[in-house]
Amino acid sequence: MHRLEGKTALVTGAARGIGEAIARRFAAEGAAVWVTDIDPAGAEVAIAIGGQFALLDVRDEAAWDAVMAAVGALDILVNNAGITGFEGGHAAPHDPEHASLADWRAVHAVNLDGCFLGCRAAIRAMRPAGKGSIINISSRSGIVGIPAAAAYASSKAAMRNHTKSVALWCAQNGLAIRCNSIHPAAIMTPMWEPMLGSSPDEREAAIKAFVADTPLKRFGTADEVAAMAAYLASDESAYVTGSEFHIDGGILAGSAASPE
Ligand code: NDP
Repeated sequence: MHRLEGKTALVTGAARGIGEAIARRFAAEGAAVWVTDIDPAGAEVAIAIGGQFALLDVRDEAAWDAVMAAVGALDILVNNAGITGFEGGHAAPHDPEHASLADWRAVHAVNLDGCFLGCRAAIRAMRPAGKGSIINISSRSGIVGIPAAAAYASSKAAMRNHTKSVALWCAQNGLAIRCNSIHPAAIMTPMWEPMLGSSPDEREAAIKAFVADTPLKRFGTADEVAAMAAYLASDESAYVTGSEFHIDGGILAGSAASPE
């Protein structure tokens, strides 16, 4: 613990789920944490960890400017806010044949535009000190295709690639501003609720089905992702940039179609 003492961190989408776990872990490691979210409930997380809260819709360029003006110097940014497009019971198809342009754009606006705006704001805020760590929460879906969630997969793949452009740009400019991506697979958070059904039996069956192809046969936890983020945020990872970190119970290590 105390690996982030003296550092200021900002986490997007930190009112719940993975973002909340990362904010809590960073605070426990000694960082001054800005909890940000589109959801005002993030203020409760900030109070609980002794951090500060700011409303931030990651799609909103002007909101980024306002929040960064309040934050000032920044050491760590986690671009965590993300949507699948199925929130709020939204059941329209997201496959490549039937998805609407509006749904496609809505998912990219949060996941990809939000990541671009966050990276740009962070580079500007970190430039005076010449160092910092940007962590983009992509997904396993950024590595493989997901036929029924094509916009989500596309946006997460673009985040993976933008991570590398940011890393190289900063290095070319003589800045020790590192940028890496984390690729979680199934992590049990409220994001999964719309997909789990309502009765306990439905829920148990859905959970089992979702991890059937995962070698470790379970969902991961938000705290496990937060532990990886703490490493990438700390100076222990000073030589790590432009890299991608899978946290997926082993699912990307092989193929579900491999012969017995
Ligand atoms: P949750 O849905 O549990 O939490 C996401 C948070 O982001 C919510 O508080 C949500 O607010 C907020 N949010 C949504 N839109 C915006 C926006 N425009 N600006 C700011 N905040 C916003 O998600 P998870 O914790 O599960 O996921 C976090 C990240 O991890 C996402 O990028 C996700 O794609 C990625 N991920 C998650 C996996 C998983 O299995 N859970 C696997 C792989 C990647 P509100 O509730 O009000 O919409």
